[in-house]
Amino acid sequence: MRVVSGIKPTGNLHLGNYLGAIRQWVVMQDDVAAKGGESLFFIADLHGLTEWIAPEELAGHTIEMAAALIAAGIDPARSILFNQARVPQHSELSWLLNNVARVGWLNRMTQFKDKAGKNREGASVGLYDYPVLMAADVLLYNATHVPVGEDQKQHLELTRDIATKFNQDYRRELFVLPEPMVSTEAPRVMSLRDPGAKMSKSNPSEQARVNLIDDDDTIAAKFRKAKSDADVLPDSVAGLADRPEARNLVTIYAALSGSTPDAVLAEFAGQGFGAFKPALADLAVATLGPIRDRMLRLLDDRAEVGRLLEAGAERARALAAPLLLDVQRTMGLQVST
Ligand code: ATP
Ligand code: MG
Repeated sequence: MRVVSGIKPTGNLHLGNYLGAIRQWVVMQDDVAAKGGESLFFIADLHGLTEWIAPEELAGHTIEMAAALIAAGIDPARSILFNQARVPQHSELSWLLNNVARVGWLNRMTQFKDKAGKNREGASVGLYDYPVLMAADVLLYNATHVPVGEDQKQHLELTRDIATKFNQDYRRELFVLPEPMVSTEAPRVMSLRDPGAKMSKSNPSEQARVNLIDDDDTIAAKFRKAKSDADVLPDSVAGLADRPEARNLVTIYAALSGSTPDAVLAEFAGQGFGAFKPALADLAVATLGPIRDRMLRLLDDRAEVGRLLEAGAERARALAAPLLLDVQRTMGLQVST
């Protein structure tokens, strides 16, 4: 079993990014290792280029994402952690697969339509071609499993279509068809001020989100001031149906404690937010505080984080190089090594 997964570099990471994305990787790393498999995690800086970003911002976000992943528990010794740009085989295979993928297939990708919006003519070719690079990211390592969220299912199907067509066109079972891996359901964390909106880094209100670099007092204060209601907590999630603020806080408590909302409610049923919010604030400080400290320590020496990524890239290149050579030869490209 070999699992490959990428994440775009983002800065200003918050609790939603942690519970919804970063921590899922840590869980996956441990699951895969328990099954005797191998995990490759990359920071998708090449995908980060599809929409304009200032160079220093992209570079900074790549290091910050790496630091967050390591601080949260991705072990660069056990997993292969790297940034995509340092493994040139991703780009090389992507070009080769561009000649296998069909324009009609890409035209059906809903994410391009969503992201380009009305400005399709002004979108970058990279944004349009992005799913082919995604296919290369996975096929380059003959990944057996790819974790996919709802929005990525279509891209995995495309990856399988490209692999199938390649194997047929060249009469070889060269590529393994990757299977989707259904990971544990990632919670969707909502804003602490408006539970109708997702917690996001683009929300202008600092009170709406908990940043991964917030200090202990700030974390605690944000939870104590989070929007809630005047009722007591029910004894099961069914009782939270019309209480989005309460549901969000219970969801966060469950996720941070590695429990379920029903188990949390079994503990707090009948109590009001006067009791629940301080408990949640304490739990958040106890869980997020050590991650923040590790992250800040790593970010004290950004060059060292860069070296960790480079060491991972070297291992990734060693896996990718023979497969790319095989593809090149199979397609009739002259390679003399
Ligand atoms: P933006 O506001 O710019 O869209 P964002 O805060 O939504 O930023 P992204 O960079 O879009 O962050 O997402 C990075 C990862 O974090 C993705 O895997 C995304 O699904 C996850 N994520 C983002 N926000 C949340 C959230 N509130 N709850 C759960 N997961 C989230
Ligand atoms: Mg987003």
